[in-house]
Amino acid sequence: MSGVRVMSEGTYDLVVIGGGPGGYVCAIKAAQLGLKTACIEKRGALGGTCLNVGCMPSKALLHSSHLYHEARHEMAAHGISVGEVTLDLDAMMDNKDKVVEGLTKGIEGLFKKNKVDYVRETGTIIAPGKVKAGDRELTARSIVIATGSESTPLPGVEIDEKRVVSSTGALDLDAVPGHLVVVGAGVIGLELGSVWGRLGSEVTVVEFLDHITPGMDAEVAKNLQRILTKQGMTFRLSTKVAAIDNSGERLKVSLEPAAGGDAETLECDTVLVAIGRRPYTEGLGLDNVGIATDRRGMIEVGDHFETSVEGIHAIGDVVRGPMLAHKAEEEGVAVAELLAGQKPHVNYDAIPGVIYTAPEVASVGRTEEQLKEAGIEYRVGKFPFLANSRARATGQTDGFVKLLVDASTDRVLGCHIIGADAGTVIGEVVLAMEYGASSEDIARTCHAHPTLEESVKEAALAAFAKPIHM
Ligand code: FAD
Ligand code: NAD
Repeated sequence: MSGVRVMSEGTYDLVVIGGGPGGYVCAIKAAQLGLKTACIEKRGALGGTCLNVGCMPSKALLHSSHLYHEARHEMAAHGISVGEVTLDLDAMMDNKDKVVEGLTKGIEGLFKKNKVDYVRETGTIIAPGKVKAGDRELTARSIVIATGSESTPLPGVEIDEKRVVSSTGALDLDAVPGHLVVVGAGVIGLELGSVWGRLGSEVTVVEFLDHITPGMDAEVAKNLQRILTKQGMTFRLSTKVAAIDNSGERLKVSLEPAAGGDAETLECDTVLVAIGRRPYTEGLGLDNVGIATDRRGMIEVGDHFETSVEGIHAIGDVVRGPMLAHKAEEEGVAVAELLAGQKPHVNYDAIPGVIYTAPEVASVGRTEEQLKEAGIEYRVGKFPFLANSRARATGQTDGFVKLLVDASTDRVLGCHIIGADAGTVIGEVVLAMEYGASSEDIARTCHAHPTLEESVKEAALAAFAKPIHM
């Protein structure tokens, strides 16, 4: 879209509905590319789930609770005595709230800098090219839906966000629960279970399947479960929550074997329901224009993020693919470039996923299970952090790097890391995969010493020749 146009107020090249990582990034990029852009966000703050009740508050609490745990249990081994360590939960929560406020205000600043109009209302599509926002009607050549997701409810269980909480309530408890039951051994359950476990809760994780973190490389998942169990988390696998009785002072959670059988009751103070997230489209007016959704309520899109209605695109958690902030951001940039006449591409084979437990878990590309199922011949290069000098120096020797490469071409197909800073270490493998690198390419790249990243080089050496340090 180029050339000079005279536009009346409320007329835009692009109206983005939703100000999360998908929507705000799309709006900024579109404005940078010269499109007159508005972003409608109803929650009163920009940044969506991620900045307000997701990635950022959870990472602030993960960091704070990790420091508390280190002060109590790990510093002595380094010769540091800190005396009695006490917890001021209110101060910890205030710090988290300040982090969130600073970040959301920062996005407002970016909107001003890039001349994106920020509309603090609920956006409802009333016709192609027309969006109602409060008492305003905005006209747009293109509309991008980026309305995100919400917690999936557990049938028959009422979330009061005080005692029976979703992730939102679990980020804002006013006291450390004596016993926290987490329903769902996924990313949220393990991250927020870790936070409260470090702060003193007994944590029991109830998972329907017979393994944790479905979709993760099975060897890594097993190791993660072993390490978290050592940290004090209890896992009840192949088990479902049949009911929660909230009538008494303590909650009574009825557990049943997933395959059926006798129920048993757990008493606890707080239940976190973290069984996944579902697309959010309430009040968006999909029916007004006939936008197609699938049976899970996800907006159906084609390869260029186009919905079933011309001029309306959709990105982020509300469409297929992993529900991750950086995936939403990539799609936001891509759709903005597309609307500006460019030919962008999102490489879904190179989107990393990180679980911010201690140690972290990071993965990109295919798992061994997926390669086997697809009948692809592969080689494995593995290297333990126990043999990495930096990990030895800092005492963070749990875990390993596992690199999966094509048996005939040596091209990197996937990487799975459990270990300290795994989320950072995986970065070089993502870049390598983006450029179609082989394990030999990684192994012949000079890595600084001593770094945890040297374990990636050694895993690459193990895949194409032999590791030096093992
Ligand atoms: P959202 O961030 O959900 O934003 C959508 C926005 O649209 C919301 O602000 C909503 O208010 C607004 N909206 C909805 N309907 C309307 C309407 N009709 N009009 C106006 N506004 C509307 N991902 C990671 O990559 N890393 C992490 O560490 C991570 N941690 C997480 C921790 C938790 C506890 C949770 C819950 C999620 C986490 N995620 C993480 C996932 C991440 O938050 C989402 O993938 C990401 O926010 C999706 O971005 P989005 O823009 O698609 O949607
Ligand atoms: P999830 O899909 O990661 O895990 C849900 C777990 O609940 C699964 O193990 C599933 O088998 C289990 N489950 C489902 N129904 C159940 C039931 N009735 N009883 C017991 N267990 C049941 O979902 P989540 O942890 O809620 O996270 C939602 C999304 O948020 C994820 O898609 C994730 O991508 C995103 N997220 C990402 C990060 C991160 O990137 N670090 C952090 C938090 C959330």
